[in-house]
Amino acid sequence: MKTVYLDNAATTAVDPEVLAAMRPYFTEKYGNPSEFHILGREARIAIENARNKTALFLGAQPEEIVFTGSATESINLSHKGLIESLLEDFRGKKRPHIITSSIEHKAVLETCRHLERRGEVFVTYLPVDNFGRVDVNKIKEVIKPETVLVSVMYANNEVGTIEPIQKIGFIIKKINNSMRNNRIYFHTDATQALQYFNCNVDLLGVDFLSFTGHKIYAPKGIGALFVRRGTPIVRQLDGGEQESGLRSSTENVPYIVGLGKAIEIIKRSKTFNSEKIAKFRDKLIKGILTIPGVRLTGHPTERVPHIASFVVDGVEGESMVLLLSDLGIIASSGSACTSAKLTPSHVLTAIGVSPEVSHGSLRFSLGKDTKDQEIDYVIKKLLEVVGRLRRMAPKF
Ligand code: PLP
Repeated sequence: MKTVYLDNAATTAVDPEVLAAMRPYFTEKYGNPSEFHILGREARIAIENARNKTALFLGAQPEEIVFTGSATESINLSHKGLIESLLEDFRGKKRPHIITSSIEHKAVLETCRHLERRGEVFVTYLPVDNFGRVDVNKIKEVIKPETVLVSVMYANNEVGTIEPIQKIGFIIKKINNSMRNNRIYFHTDATQALQYFNCNVDLLGVDFLSFTGHKIYAPKGIGALFVRRGTPIVRQLDGGEQESGLRSSTENVPYIVGLGKAIEIIKRSKTFNSEKIAKFRDKLIKGILTIPGVRLTGHPTERVPHIASFVVDGVEGESMVLLLSDLGIIASSGSACTSAKLTPSHVLTAIGVSPEVSHGSLRFSLGKDTKDQEIDYVIKKLLEVVGRLRRMAPKF
């Protein structure tokens, strides 16, 4: 049985071209980039090549890119690093204020909660509308003199809704240009957007941008953070002061090379992949919505090309995922990070889905290798699976 892999928002396979680029850095070019000998220099050059590619892709300077172990690490570094650098200025005054949205990934929400628990900040968790969109005007309303950070994701990983990052960036810039004591820094988590949308940091108006390799066909365990030049930040890992002193630890050379290659591939094929994947996504959505008692979650049009997410009345998401997987179809219920728990997803709760209904959540996330006939197969099999489960359920 062939696997139909539709869980690319959770993770992607490593692209063979990425793997081929990485391979020599395990076994032949394995030098420590901090050393001056030939192997060290070779590794250093490879890192700087990847950094240049990443910077070019984001419209940034190479020295503004920090390689990390993941998006989670990038987010922890930006948020904790910024707040730590500002604490002295705020001593004896009101605590610094962070604005974020209630549908962020746990990496952002838990980092904010951690800072709150430490008593270092107060946080506003902005509500979203029923499509999962942040209201730009609401951000304006809640900005205070102590606001130092706005953190809003570029695209949501559970329901695929795209957030108005450029508009938020514009407003923050305007406010920063007015008479203010504290500058407001703007972070976006671009993990689910990087391979499909313009991530030029000036266009977006961001000071921090985070992402991870394993959603873009590079391996797990590598990420990056853009930090705009001049942004105050304190490193969270002390040691050998690698990555311009912002992230101590010997660089993960093969993975950094892999990330650089993955970005090079995105640059080459972005438009083609986005259009092809969006076409398949729309076909999938149309087909699945013919099943009675199924609703699309997230925005109908302002959504990433690869995510089609639903709630299905009268069936458990986990049961659908298990039965589909028996048929070779890999999907997910809730996000990978919350699907191990049976608590309703915070994203679905935030967009107004009741706890009972949210248990029937199902997400398909397409990838660059998704094929037309796979979409037909999934629609057909999901109809059978939902029918089977409903026949077993008492209320259907
Ligand atoms: N942000 C978003 C939007 C994500 O989808 C994910 C992964 O699911 C992360 C952050 C965390 O990425 P990582 O697990 O690589 O740290």
